[in-house]
Amino acid sequence: MAQRVTRARVLIEKQLEDDDTFATAQTVYDRLVAKGQHVGAATVYRNLQSMAADGKVDSVRHDGEAFYRLCKDRRHHHHVVCRRCGRAVELEIPGLEQWVGRRACSLGFSDVTHEIDIFGLCAQCRALEADHADGGSAARTQHDDSSAREPKDRTDTHFQQLA
Ligand SMILES: [Zn+2]
Ligand SMILES: [Zn+2]
Repeated sequence: MAQRVTRARVLIEKQLEDDDTFATAQTVYDRLVAKGQHVGAATVYRNLQSMAADGKVDSVRHDGEAFYRLCKDRRHHHHVVCRRCGRAVELEIPGLEQWVGRRACSLGFSDVTHEIDIFGLCAQCRALEADHADGGSAARTQHDDSSAREPKDRTDTHFQQLA
Protein backbone atom coordinates (compact mmCIF):
# COMPACT_ATOMS: atom_id res chain seq x y z
CA MET A 1 0.00 0.00 0.00
CA ALA A 2 2.76 2.42 0.96
CA GLN A 3 4.41 1.50 -2.34
CA ARG A 4 1.27 2.42 -4.29
CA VAL A 5 0.98 5.95 -2.86
CA THR A 6 4.67 6.76 -3.22
CA ARG A 7 4.79 8.02 -6.81
CA ALA A 8 1.73 10.27 -6.44
CA ARG A 9 2.92 11.45 -3.03
CA VAL A 10 6.33 12.41 -4.43
CA LEU A 11 4.70 14.38 -7.27
CA ILE A 12 2.36 16.17 -4.87
CA GLU A 13 5.17 17.02 -2.46
CA LYS A 14 7.27 18.37 -5.33
CA GLN A 15 4.35 20.50 -6.51
CA LEU A 16 3.87 21.92 -3.01
CA GLU A 17 7.59 22.65 -2.74
CA ASP A 18 7.50 24.56 -6.04
CA ASP A 19 4.42 26.59 -5.12
CA ASP A 20 4.54 29.07 -2.26
CA THR A 21 0.79 29.76 -2.11
CA PHE A 22 -2.09 28.10 -0.29
CA ALA A 23 -4.04 26.08 -2.86
CA THR A 24 -7.08 23.81 -2.87
CA ALA A 25 -6.71 20.12 -3.76
CA GLN A 26 -8.39 20.97 -7.08
CA THR A 27 -5.79 23.66 -7.82
CA VAL A 28 -2.91 21.34 -6.89
CA TYR A 29 -4.42 18.71 -9.19
CA ASP A 30 -4.91 21.25 -12.03
CA ARG A 31 -1.29 22.40 -11.73
CA LEU A 32 0.00 18.80 -11.85
CA VAL A 33 -2.12 18.10 -14.94
CA ALA A 34 -0.87 21.32 -16.54
CA LYS A 35 2.67 19.99 -16.08
CA GLY A 36 1.66 16.78 -17.83
CA GLN A 37 1.67 14.63 -14.68
CA HIS A 38 -0.72 11.71 -14.64
CA VAL A 39 -2.32 11.68 -11.19
CA GLY A 40 -5.94 11.08 -10.33
CA ALA A 41 -7.90 13.93 -8.73
CA ALA A 42 -9.11 11.60 -5.95
CA THR A 43 -5.50 10.58 -5.23
CA VAL A 44 -4.49 14.23 -4.87
CA TYR A 45 -7.44 14.95 -2.53
CA ARG A 46 -6.73 11.86 -0.42
CA ASN A 47 -2.99 12.47 -0.16
CA LEU A 48 -3.39 16.13 0.79
CA GLN A 49 -5.95 15.22 3.45
CA SER A 50 -3.70 12.59 5.02
CA MET A 51 -0.60 14.80 4.76
CA ALA A 52 -2.50 17.56 6.59
CA ALA A 53 -3.75 15.10 9.23
CA ASP A 54 -0.15 13.94 9.78
CA GLY A 55 1.03 17.55 10.07
CA LYS A 56 3.23 17.20 6.96
CA VAL A 57 1.50 20.11 5.20
CA ASP A 58 -0.30 23.12 6.59
CA SER A 59 -3.98 23.57 5.86
CA VAL A 60 -6.30 26.51 6.38
CA ARG A 61 -10.04 26.70 5.80
CA HIS A 62 -11.67 29.60 4.03
CA ASP A 63 -15.28 29.76 2.79
CA GLY A 64 -15.68 26.09 3.71
CA GLU A 65 -12.78 24.95 1.52
CA ALA A 66 -9.43 23.50 2.58
CA PHE A 67 -6.24 25.13 1.26
CA TYR A 68 -2.85 23.42 1.52
CA ARG A 69 0.72 24.71 1.67
CA LEU A 70 4.09 23.22 2.55
CA CYS A 71 5.36 25.82 5.01
CA LYS A 72 9.09 26.25 5.62
CA ASP A 73 8.48 26.34 9.35
CA ARG A 74 7.34 22.88 10.49
CA ARG A 75 6.73 24.05 14.05
CA HIS A 76 3.38 25.47 15.20
CA HIS A 77 2.72 28.86 13.62
CA HIS A 78 -0.02 31.03 12.16
CA HIS A 79 -0.53 32.58 8.73
CA VAL A 80 -1.72 35.72 7.07
CA VAL A 81 -3.18 34.53 3.75
CA CYS A 82 -4.33 36.37 0.63
CA ARG A 83 -7.91 35.28 0.08
CA ARG A 84 -7.54 35.87 -3.67
CA CYS A 85 -4.21 34.30 -4.69
CA GLY A 86 -3.24 32.24 -1.62
CA ARG A 87 0.08 34.04 -1.05
CA ALA A 88 1.00 33.55 2.60
CA VAL A 89 3.32 34.74 5.33
CA GLU A 90 4.11 32.55 8.34
CA LEU A 91 3.52 34.33 11.63
CA GLU A 92 4.39 33.93 15.25
CA ILE A 93 2.13 36.01 17.44
CA PRO A 94 4.01 37.13 20.58
CA GLY A 95 2.38 35.92 23.78
CA LEU A 96 -0.51 34.19 21.99
CA GLU A 97 0.42 30.62 22.89
CA GLN A 98 0.76 31.42 26.61
CA TRP A 99 -2.45 33.48 26.61
CA VAL A 100 -4.47 30.71 24.94
CA GLY A 101 -3.17 28.11 27.39
CA ARG A 102 -3.78 30.25 30.48
CA ARG A 103 -7.22 31.43 29.38
CA ALA A 104 -8.49 27.96 28.41
CA CYS A 105 -7.12 26.53 31.65
CA SER A 106 -8.85 29.23 33.70
CA LEU A 107 -12.11 28.25 31.97
CA GLY A 108 -11.59 24.63 33.03
CA PHE A 109 -10.38 23.30 29.65
CA SER A 110 -7.38 21.05 29.18
CA ASP A 111 -5.67 19.48 26.14
CA VAL A 112 -6.24 22.73 24.26
CA THR A 113 -5.40 23.29 20.59
CA HIS A 114 -6.04 26.30 18.36
CA GLU A 115 -5.85 27.39 14.74
CA ILE A 116 -5.73 31.10 14.07
CA ASP A 117 -5.24 32.39 10.53
CA ILE A 118 -5.66 35.88 9.20
CA PHE A 119 -7.11 36.50 5.72
CA GLY A 120 -6.80 39.61 3.59
CA LEU A 121 -5.82 40.93 0.18
CA CYS A 122 -2.06 40.94 -0.51
CA ALA A 123 -0.26 44.03 -1.86
CA GLN A 124 -0.10 42.62 -5.40
CA CYS A 125 -3.79 41.68 -5.56
CA ARG A 126 -4.65 45.04 -4.02
CA ALA A 127 -2.66 46.81 -6.78
CA LEU A 128 -4.42 44.73 -9.46
CA GLU A 129 -7.79 45.68 -8.00
CA ALA A 130 -6.81 49.37 -7.93
CA ASP A 131 -5.82 49.12 -11.63
CA HIS A 132 -9.27 47.76 -12.46
CA ALA A 133 -11.00 50.43 -10.40
CA ASP A 134 -9.08 53.15 -12.30
CA GLY A 135 -10.80 52.28 -15.58
CA GLY A 136 -13.64 54.74 -16.15
CA SER A 137 -13.16 56.58 -12.86
CA ALA A 138 -12.89 59.95 -14.67
CA ALA A 139 -16.39 59.52 -16.08
CA ARG A 140 -17.78 58.83 -12.64
CA THR A 141 -16.12 61.73 -10.82
CA GLN A 142 -19.07 64.07 -11.13
CA HIS A 143 -21.51 61.50 -9.86
CA ASP A 144 -19.18 60.35 -7.05
CA ASP A 145 -18.97 63.86 -5.64
CA SER A 146 -22.72 64.20 -5.21
CA SER A 147 -23.23 60.68 -3.90
CA ALA A 148 -20.41 61.13 -1.39
CA ARG A 149 -22.31 63.97 0.25
CA GLU A 150 -25.61 62.14 0.42
CA PRO A 151 -24.74 59.33 2.86
CA LYS A 152 -23.11 61.87 5.18
CA ASP A 153 -26.40 63.77 5.45
CA ARG A 154 -28.19 60.54 6.20
CA THR A 155 -25.65 59.70 8.89
CA ASP A 156 -26.15 63.09 10.51
CA THR A 157 -29.92 62.55 10.56
CA HIS A 158 -29.43 59.12 12.03
CA PHE A 159 -27.30 60.48 14.85
CA GLN A 160 -29.88 63.19 15.56
CA GLN A 161 -32.56 60.55 15.82
CA LEU A 162 -30.43 58.58 18.27
CA ALA A 163 -29.74 61.63 20.43
ZN1 LIG B 1 -2.89 38.02 -3.47
ZN1 LIG C 1 -0.50 29.33 18.00
